[in-house]
Amino acid sequence: MKHYNIPIFLPELACPFQCSYCNQSKISGQLCLPQVDEIKSLIERNIQTFPQIERKVEIAFFGGNFTGLPAKTQISYLDIAEEFVQKGLVQGIRLSTRPDYIDVSKLELLKKYSVKTIELGAQSLDDEVLSLSGRGHTSQDVFDAAGLILNHGFRLGLQMMIGLPGDAFEKARATANKIIAAGAHETRIYPCLVIKDTQLEKLYQQGSYTALSLNQAVEWTSELLNLFELGGVRVIRIGLHPSEELNGSGLIAGPYHPSFKELVMTSLWRKLFEKESNWPKTRKMKIHVNPKEINFAVGYMATNRKWLTGNGLYATFVGDKELKERNYYITSC
Ligand code: SF4
Repeated sequence: MKHYNIPIFLPELACPFQCSYCNQSKISGQLCLPQVDEIKSLIERNIQTFPQIERKVEIAFFGGNFTGLPAKTQISYLDIAEEFVQKGLVQGIRLSTRPDYIDVSKLELLKKYSVKTIELGAQSLDDEVLSLSGRGHTSQDVFDAAGLILNHGFRLGLQMMIGLPGDAFEKARATANKIIAAGAHETRIYPCLVIKDTQLEKLYQQGSYTALSLNQAVEWTSELLNLFELGGVRVIRIGLHPSEELNGSGLIAGPYHPSFKELVMTSLWRKLFEKESNWPKTRKMKIHVNPKEINFAVGYMATNRKWLTGNGLYATFVGDKELKERNYYITSC
């Protein structure tokens, strides 16, 4: 069963805060809340692009602050999404929102619909980082909202950002551990970027904020990914989707890379190869990995293969469906 999301981006219009790094219109390339008709045709267009069998489709309201929208708007969006669920064309609805916009009455409204997953932009669970980033809520707000969401029977997603003002690797690691402890089912890891026309851009131009380097962001993310995997939290996204704005003048600074996830996975595989001590004496070998991992094991731009070759190790990568995640074995040839 393959999972597909139909993403519907809601810009920050519903959001009374202005997080220092946020300019949703630059990230999503969209300024106005979509009309119900636009959402309907977007869903219809997307559905046709998915395979007809072995699929699980969810309508995903991303971006701004869903539960901060007027109830009337939430209902109009949920009504249209629910129509597709009732027709059996999609299997559920998911949405993202702010932790301080969750309460019992908001959850009871969502419970009337086929909302399965609620994602909170936790970003950091360090109160100093939250305050310096202008988030307008505390870590306790996240824990309270997470508990309510779980108690109401929703799946919980807690997104995190790395490299926010005041952040450090130890704080990011503590955030990941708290996300695991809070009972999240899934997470996303986004490196903080300096986007045009944001408070962070001013801080960056004044020299008060330094973005993570690409290398730092890759290393931090690979460590966090290991932690989440051990903690049983699914990492459903690493890095922002490429957009025209991010590829163009909207990005001022920061560790953006269109293949960020590949870089992270490449780094994880490289570390495994660096630790490997049982290379075959022939120096020519097959490295067996799960087929989904082959590209990552070979590395972005074949960097891992080149690294092996540079160390006199001549590897062919072979798929083995029985292997899980980054398990592998080597045979000589
Ligand atoms: S809460 Fe979300 S939408 Fe609102 S300003 Fe912050 S990042 Fe942007």
